[in-house]
Amino acid sequence: MDRFRGRIGLDRLWQWLLSQPGSLLHLLHYDLEPGEAEWFARRKLEYINSLSGNLFEALRMALLLTICAPGLTWHFYVGAVLLLAQMRVGLTELRRKEGCGRYKPSEMVDIWAKGIWLRAIFLSAFTACCIVVVPPERIGALIIYLLVLAQLELLLQFTVPVAGIISQTITLGLTTVALLFRPDMRGELIVPIMALQLLALHVMLFNLHYMFATRILRTRRLKSANETIQNLLTEYETHASDWMLETDAAGRIALPSERMCSALERTAAELEGIKLVNLLVAGPETEAMRNAARRLKPFHDLVVPVVIDGDLHWWSVTGNPLYEELRHTGFRLFVRDVTDRYTAESQARFLADHDSLTALPNRHNFQSRLESALEATAHEGAFAVLYVDLDHFKAVNDTLGHQFGDSVLVEAAWRIKSSLGGKGFVARLGGDEFACIVDDSMQAEDLGAIGKAIVDSISEAMEIERRTVRIGASVGIAIAPEHGAASEVLLRSADLALYEAKSRGRGSTILYDPAMEELKQERGRLELELRSALANGEFELHYQPLHELAGDRIAGFEALLRWRHAERGLIPPDIFIPIAEHTGLIVALGEWVLREALAEAATWPEDMTVAVNVSPAQMAEFTLLKQVIAALSASGFDPHRLELEITETMLMQECDEHLQQLERLHALGVRIALDDFGTGYSSLNYLRSFPFDKIKIDRCFITEMNAGSESSAIIEAVLDLAGKLNMQTIAEGVESEEQLASLRALGCEQVQGYLISKAIPAAELPITRRLPREDSNTAAVANLVPVQAPSADADPAPAVQEARRA
Ligand code: C2E
Ligand code: CA
Ligand code: CA
Repeated sequence: MDRFRGRIGLDRLWQWLLSQPGSLLHLLHYDLEPGEAEWFARRKLEYINSLSGNLFEALRMALLLTICAPGLTWHFYVGAVLLLAQMRVGLTELRRKEGCGRYKPSEMVDIWAKGIWLRAIFLSAFTACCIVVVPPERIGALIIYLLVLAQLELLLQFTVPVAGIISQTITLGLTTVALLFRPDMRGELIVPIMALQLLALHVMLFNLHYMFATRILRTRRLKSANETIQNLLTEYETHASDWMLETDAAGRIALPSERMCSALERTAAELEGIKLVNLLVAGPETEAMRNAARRLKPFHDLVVPVVIDGDLHWWSVTGNPLYEELRHTGFRLFVRDVTDRYTAESQARFLADHDSLTALPNRHNFQSRLESALEATAHEGAFAVLYVDLDHFKAVNDTLGHQFGDSVLVEAAWRIKSSLGGKGFVARLGGDEFACIVDDSMQAEDLGAIGKAIVDSISEAMEIERRTVRIGASVGIAIAPEHGAASEVLLRSADLALYEAKSRGRGSTILYDPAMEELKQERGRLELELRSALANGEFELHYQPLHELAGDRIAGFEALLRWRHAERGLIPPDIFIPIAEHTGLIVALGEWVLREALAEAATWPEDMTVAVNVSPAQMAEFTLLKQVIAALSASGFDPHRLELEITETMLMQECDEHLQQLERLHALGVRIALDDFGTGYSSLNYLRSFPFDKIKIDRCFITEMNAGSESSAIIEAVLDLAGKLNMQTIAEGVESEEQLASLRALGCEQVQGYLISKAIPAAELPITRRLPREDSNTAAVANLVPVQAPSADADPAPAVQEARRA
């Protein structure tokens, strides 16, 4: 159509005709989907070709000639033959064109259309001649013949309605003219009859076309829709978790599908007739579905719980009521098992405010809980926040692996929770930090007791993966609204208290005090300054004598680190070592201490030892071993004169790597001393885990030695044990003559303390026979032994002995 309109350029006329009320042109106006036009043209061609053209033309011609025979001359017969031949040629030509496939179906239809009205011109002209010459007694028959023929022509023309109406107009026009030529015909009758005939043909033609087009298109679209639906249904049926189901008006299952039976693990006979809701678990979701069904309302994706073989499943159900002649006959339901997705969703909801590892509420959850608790303080009174941090957790995590660390966290979480006895809200804030909100024990002592309960329960040995580990905890407490009416302030206060607890020796519980603010800022400043202090050479070592009681002589010195701060003066290690450990600076610092202490001690008489403190952080990846070897070779110092003071924290993890490292150091000849024995989490187990050369009894026992007999008893027991285990003993923090006397009486071998001397700079050491310090000579030794420590696997002992001999 468009082609036609475009060609004649009568778009506006076409639009006008379309809009006319009586016009049937709209019947030619239907939407073809993309790709449908050619298909449609091909159907038209198929139809046209199904008509037997030659036979039809021959018959109509024969009939025409027969009717008109009395009036015809031989010219007519010749003309008829020529016309038939010409039409035959035309038809053959059309078929040939079609057959050669050069034309698209739509182009072919256009050619056909042209053929039709060309044919109409020739045929009508011939017929008109017949009309003029036919005798009056035959004119009636001829007119009937023409009318019938016009109807028959429609069968061919409705596929190309515009060409059809043109050819009908030509035919009727010529017929009318021919009739008017006849003296026996009356023009005032002929013209209106012919006009009516044209109108009737027009109506029939367009309607036929419309019926043809819509029927054929609808059939096609229906077929393709059917195919799509069929595909969808097949897919639906093969999709493992979906099925369809119908119920009767009473909600009883009718004709359960195979898929449904297998989903429910029941047979069709078992399912048929039982009420669908009886399969579902009672609850708000099931109730919502039941309500919708009762009100005959369709529902979409209602997720309902179902128990199948003891397991809870979730079904997403979509239902539509079914009707038969307005009578409700039941429901058709589409069911999908969404258990996985649904559980994942509820899990996701849970994970959004819970910590996935410990299942405790997470920071976000804690925050909102804290905020509502703060809002409630106005009418519900005060509450407290306990900030819990695990001690030595980092060491466990670093040495035993994150998986092991995770297990420790889970255990710790459980212990914290049970120490609160369900009275508070416990959350994991991240890492090894936990926080509790406690609301019903407002007395500071009560809070302290809770804190202590937490510390005690966490400090108990943990049996994890057939290992025994010990960690500890420190607790900082802040009370709301006294220590902060806003959540950030309150948490900060608890955090400060926690920091204070940690620096006062781990395992303690401290209540917030405003003075802590200053300390915190101080710490921040120090942390910054500490980073540049090593490069700036701000560190120095002081030495404290280790006094041997038997010979009454100085057996050696313990190297103690000092930070000479430009503005603050000498800063003691208790202040900055925790910061250095926290920031990791301790590794470089520890290496410097070793090198410096050994270089210094190399100038002392050969019977003097040097004790160097080492941090747990230096133990990772055989760092200590490498550092010691490097320092020994750089200084040429005898490994037997070196004592490394380690604390129990290093052994708490029962880590093979740590023990292996200590054994290698031992094999080098280095002596290993257990520092601060008796404090923290010490256990006699540690004495068994490694053959220490020396035990350093902690200062706290010495301080209380004469005040209470318990300390003396402990010291006595330790000294006794050390003797049995063949370990040397030293008591630190000896400040009085009484202490010294008691220790001597108990058989302690060495003492260290202010009574003898404080730690003093190297230059002031009471050493008379000093060897020159040979920092510059060490290069020769360093050549023999690489300063860069050998790999941990290589046995370093021979190398160092070699170095020493050199
Ligand atoms: P520590 O190893 O237990 O060292 C003994 C501490 O007790 C020293 O404190 C020492 O000055 C002090 N002290 C000695 N005799 C007495 C006494 O009679 N009474 C009292 N009240 N105190 C006494 P300092 O030097 O402040 O060191 C503190 C801690 O810092 C050390 O405890 C040690 O754990 C750590 N530290 C010191 N230097 C180093 C180091 O080079 N590396 C590492 N990793 N830690 C170090
Ligand atoms: Ca020490
Ligand atoms: Ca000590």
